Amino acid sequence: MPSQPPPPRPSSPEARGAFAARIAVVGRAAVLLLLAVLGWQVLQRELAVTASGGALRFLHIIDLAIHEAGHAFGLILPPFFSILSGSALQVALPAACALLFLHQRHMTSFAVALFWTGESVTDVAIYMADARRQVRPLLGGHEAFHDWNYLLGQLHLLGWAPAIGRLTFGVGILMIIAALAVAANEAHRTWQRAVSA
Ligand SMILES: [Zn+2]
Repeated sequence: MPSQPPPPRPSSPEARGAFAARIAVVGRAAVLLLLAVLGWQVLQRELAVTASGGALRFLHIIDLAIHEAGHAFGLILPPFFSILSGSALQVALPAACALLFLHQRHMTSFAVALFWTGESVTDVAIYMADARRQVRPLLGGHEAFHDWNYLLGQLHLLGWAPAIGRLTFGVGILMIIAALAVAANEAHRTWQRAVSA
């Protein structure tokens, strides 16, 4: 009768490898769950200007800080591009992170950065959709400058602001769905590796 191989001792390299594989599965599943919950909140928020609470409020503050940094970098540009640079950087920075992680094949980090890009696109979409009504609270209160009122006004597209906002929101949601698909695929692959180890 063939003898069974002895079970790996708790301190053996095999046992440590199995433990690390299980931790990797739990970590990726937690990331997937977090992104799914946040994605659902983004979908529920839609284009509401004052509905952000909790984690989405925190993400909005990060987006806003990058947005303001974009204006600072854009000061040397002509007025139209200087105003545009706030919204542009708040999308371009997470997108650059996503491309870097994709290049390095860090797929879960890529999913998180892609999700953040999509969320930031929906944040800009809220600003766009508000261009005509201008009810979104801005830094500086009532005296503040409304970027998208100026930008869409310059392009003679103010009347299209709600439609442009909805279209941009849809693009952000597609990016969030893609991020969830990548995160789910990574969680599944890690789980398959763990059970076959
Ligand atoms: Zn701005």
